[in-house]
Amino acid sequence: MYRTFFSFGSKLVMSAILLIGLIGCASTTDRKEAAVSTAPATERYFIFDTIVSLRVYDERMTSQHFDEVRGLLEQIDQRMNRLLAGSEIDQVNQEAGASAVSVSEETFKVVQTAVDYAAASGGHFDPTIGPIVDLWGIDSEHADVPEDRKLTAAMQKIDYKNVTLDPSSHAIMLKKKGMSLDLGAIAKGYAADVIADYLQQQDFKSAIIDLGGNVLAMGAKPNGSPWNIGIQDPGEQRGQHLGTLEVVNKTIVTSGVYERFFESEGNVYHHILSPFTGYPVDNDLLSVTIVTETSMDADAMSTSVFSLGLAEGRRFIESRDDAEAIFVTKDHQIYLTSGLTETFNRTNDDYQLAE
Ligand code: ADP
Ligand code: MG
Repeated sequence: MYRTFFSFGSKLVMSAILLIGLIGCASTTDRKEAAVSTAPATERYFIFDTIVSLRVYDERMTSQHFDEVRGLLEQIDQRMNRLLAGSEIDQVNQEAGASAVSVSEETFKVVQTAVDYAAASGGHFDPTIGPIVDLWGIDSEHADVPEDRKLTAAMQKIDYKNVTLDPSSHAIMLKKKGMSLDLGAIAKGYAADVIADYLQQQDFKSAIIDLGGNVLAMGAKPNGSPWNIGIQDPGEQRGQHLGTLEVVNKTIVTSGVYERFFESEGNVYHHILSPFTGYPVDNDLLSVTIVTETSMDADAMSTSVFSLGLAEGRRFIESRDDAEAIFVTKDHQIYLTSGLTETFNRTNDDYQLAE
């Protein structure tokens, strides 16, 4: 099986399963509520090594609708998976340093958004991270700490400013040979938005879309009350949560050290890499969860803010009207941005709410 931006280690899959379980529990804790709720149409499958879980609370949802959703995911992968020979992103990468490649409108939009977040985060988020993702091989059988010499050489290829975008022809050009776009930090979010748009077009109003823990909660529960979404405990693989969040029509996306990693000689190396050091980002954070309207933005922001760290990350989120965040630090403090204080419930005594 080929690797893709959808690919995850088994630990993440476990946490995804348990998160889905939690949503199930949370929505049935109130028995009266559960009795009046319509049972959802559900589908859960592995696609490109990621667990996709869909729960649509509408009796009109059919297997044909589910098939159409799967088709949309396959199309996104065929366009945006850098490791799939012939995908649009693969073509752009193959032509690095040589020529521009015209891509579909959607691929262009995702790359443009990624480059915008790279600029907004001062380069902490960088979609040209591909060369060092390859060297670390996290999520592959050959995961290992790269030689410094190789890392230094690969880092010369990383710089979002060397991506040229032409909106009129949807052409993308990577200026240096050896550059490689990697949309792993944004494409799953985009995919969740595509599914939500599709369900909305079908006039479905209440659904939980979960792509490997990247959650989009559409509308409210069928009885009109908010969803309760479990927030992963970053210290635990087993899907234990540190709290729950009440939301209506929001996406909840987490980036954390626990999602994909490997261990070597007693050190743990995770999958969010610093374009400045070439090593996994090491700051005061264990995880950051973004709560906002569109999942593509949430996905890009979660990786950006994780890379920025607590102080800069908080400023980044507080400066925007459209997003909230939950930061979990290595000293087990939970920091909430101002819009979440009423809707977050801490459920785990191992963590304290910071003042
Ligand atoms: P997940 O995919 O586990 O949900 P993220 O959304 O944070 O987590 O994306 C991490 C992925 O993004 C990595 O596996 C890699 O493909 C890519 N990536 C790693 N570091 C960066 C970075 N600094 N900027 C942009 N993309 C990154
Ligand atoms: Mg992300």
